[in-house]
Amino acid sequence: MNISLLLQMAADAAPDREALVCEDRRWTYDALWKAAQGAARSMRESGATHIALLDESSEAAPIALFGAALAGIPYVPLNYRLADADLGALLGRIAPAYVIGDTDRVTRLNGDGGHTLFGRMDFVAEAQAKADGPELEETEETVAVQLFTSGTTAAPKAAILRHSNLLGYILGTVEFMSADESEAALVSVPPYHIAGISALMSSIYAMRKIVLLPAFDPDVWLKLIEDEHVTNAFVVPTMLSRIIGRMDAGVKADVSSLRAIAYGGGKMPLELISRALDLFPQTNFTNAYGLTETSSTVALLGPDEHRAAHQASDPAARARLASVGKPLPTVELEIRDEEGRKLPAGERGEIYVRGDQVSGEYRERSALDAEGWFPTRDAGYLDEEGYLFLAGRADDVIVRGGENISPGEIEDVLLTHGAVGDCAAVAIPSVEWGEAVGVAIACKVDCSQPGEEELCKLVKDRLRSSRVPERIVFVEALPYNEMGKLLRREVKKLF
Ligand code: ATP
Repeated sequence: MNISLLLQMAADAAPDREALVCEDRRWTYDALWKAAQGAARSMRESGATHIALLDESSEAAPIALFGAALAGIPYVPLNYRLADADLGALLGRIAPAYVIGDTDRVTRLNGDGGHTLFGRMDFVAEAQAKADGPELEETEETVAVQLFTSGTTAAPKAAILRHSNLLGYILGTVEFMSADESEAALVSVPPYHIAGISALMSSIYAMRKIVLLPAFDPDVWLKLIEDEHVTNAFVVPTMLSRIIGRMDAGVKADVSSLRAIAYGGGKMPLELISRALDLFPQTNFTNAYGLTETSSTVALLGPDEHRAAHQASDPAARARLASVGKPLPTVELEIRDEEGRKLPAGERGEIYVRGDQVSGEYRERSALDAEGWFPTRDAGYLDEEGYLFLAGRADDVIVRGGENISPGEIEDVLLTHGAVGDCAAVAIPSVEWGEAVGVAIACKVDCSQPGEEELCKLVKDRLRSSRVPERIVFVEALPYNEMGKLLRREVKKLF
């Protein structure tokens, strides 16, 4: 099975339905499917081993994704914001590629490097020109997409996603999809992130109109919701925070069409989601937890659970708003200790997942164990009712004199201080303990900087003395990437 079937089925079922809007350009499902076939012909002729997209979102992304699938050549969307040296290294790993996007940059980085280069709209024109042509032979290639992880913990890893993984994800989410003709999905996540790929696939499977936002901007996001009567959107927490910030600043938009907002990719602050639930009372919220290596979402907290937790007065019931929900019906999930033993409810360990959508495969190796389980490197626990709570990433743990400290415990306490707007705890070298706790703090606007002693006392009163920061630095803002992920390796450089 090939993911191009999703687009083919939509085009067969509703050829004239609007499939995609990007700036002032509009595509029907039939036109998009024809362009994907033309792209596949062009890609095959080029002799490339990979199809790379080096660009922000546009129609070139779905045409390249489904064209590459049809051609049987792995699709590799790259982060166009990377520094030249990093991008050059990634391009070197996939030569000779068919590159769509910034051709000047690729030429500068790699000479001709054997790559076939197309500017975004030249590629679209080429795909349209080859739309009618000889029948495309079927392909045996099983790799659909190669995606580099965000690299928040270490250098980006090249995750391999097979057609079966991506289709496994679609099957796992079928019961959460409602499709009617009026649905329109706003896609504002970058095409080189798994969320960008899964949003395109799900929307096409549900035959929605896809509204593409080339690069996220909260004002344009609000305007597109109104202009295109958007019903579904996916945001990362920082996007939601910026959108609400603009609404607070007086930017007006009719958002009454928005039936569903899914969010994920990073920790959602409780204050922010509570605010969003008040501001968008008619919208269903879903928290989606997943990784690149799992073809996106493996667990979700649905709209009913959001509403129940938000309206509850009992603190225990309200706490559920911090959960990422339950695994999809097609995904198995376990919490294990360091020896790989399954842990009971309430105990914290590493999250393992298994299922068709879980690839766990990198270019160089597979991270799956003999039974097909993938260690996510995320720490977490399940409550008595099977709801999953995340507790930081295994790689972020601070090991102080042999004692494991999760940064989240310290951050949660510091965030209760009225002047602390954002904070991150990281391991810093210590002669005495091997590692000790370093904390970077960004104060709230208009708040004066609290004393270090006061902050240390707060931690000491609530947690153990081993959690008390050895060093505190104050910064204007913590470093996040464009997907709203805190870059802890950058935080470490502050010490
Ligand atoms: P790298 O593996 O290179 O460090 P990365 O893991 O950040 O990068 P992604 O695959 O984009 O790359 O991110 C997956 C991670 O994002 C998860 O392991 C988890 O830590 C975090 N995450 C995803 N969804 C959620 C969510 N709903 N709530 C909180 N955190 C989430």
